[in-house]
Amino acid sequence: ALMITDECINCDVCEPECPNEAIYLGPEIYEIDPAKCTECVGHFDEPQCVQVCPVACIPVNPQHVESQETLWQKFQRLQKAG
Ligand code: SF4
Ligand code: SF4
Repeated sequence: ALMITDECINCDVCEPECPNEAIYLGPEIYEIDPAKCTECVGHFDEPQCVQVCPVACIPVNPQHVESQETLWQKFQRLQKAG
């Protein structure tokens, strides 16, 4: 999963781009739910939030480093959950 750092300027552009609805506005800045972020695996070749973020503040979450296989399985689980 990816994460949003405190460099986020709350520009709002990433939230609607997420195919998994993993991005939400937290108490201060936008945040990513690691349970829902597949790094866009299953939807796009590149993480869509990273593509649109004007300040490049969306790195891999060091607490949630996942393989392509793990991300793919998460994608499939999310599809089933609807
Ligand atoms: Fe959503 Fe993709 Fe960004 Fe993860 S990488 S938060 S799934 S847009
Ligand atoms: Fe924050 Fe980047 Fe999302 Fe804008 S696109 S709200 S700066 S994380």
